[in-house]
Amino acid sequence: MADCLFCGIVNGDVKGEVVYQDSSVVAFKDIKPKAPVHLLIVPRKHIATLLDVEEGDKGLFGDIFFAANKLAGDHGISQDGFRVVFNCGEGAGQSVFHIHLHLLGGRAMTWPPG
Ligand code: 5GP
Ligand code: ZN
Repeated sequence: MADCLFCGIVNGDVKGEVVYQDSSVVAFKDIKPKAPVHLLIVPRKHIATLLDVEEGDKGLFGDIFFAANKLAGDHGISQDGFRVVFNCGEGAGQSVFHIHLHLLGGRAMTWPPG
């Protein structure tokens, strides 16, 4: 989608520190990490928010979570625990409207989140 930052990273027009990609998802380091490991896992397909997910996208979310599983292992955070988050809408803190799963780890997490 034109003017979408994460579509730009997916198609290579915008620089991103890509750590994983396959036919359906791309993962890259968050530019302002909130934890020692902070990755964003995005579908190649532009989907703005969780509310825009369609029936045909259901498999894609398996791909996103499977990538999170693999990346948690590859980045050494699977043993100590990690967090995965979709912010949905501005009120929840979403600032980039191309859906992305945050994968955070490498420090203790508190609950509930702010
Ligand atoms: P949200 O607030 O939408 O849930 O998460 C957006 C995330 O994207 C934020 O954690 C922010 O630091 C990250 N971000 C914003 N702009 C860029 C960018 O240009 N490159 C990368 N790698 N991350 C970005
Ligand atoms: Zn996009």
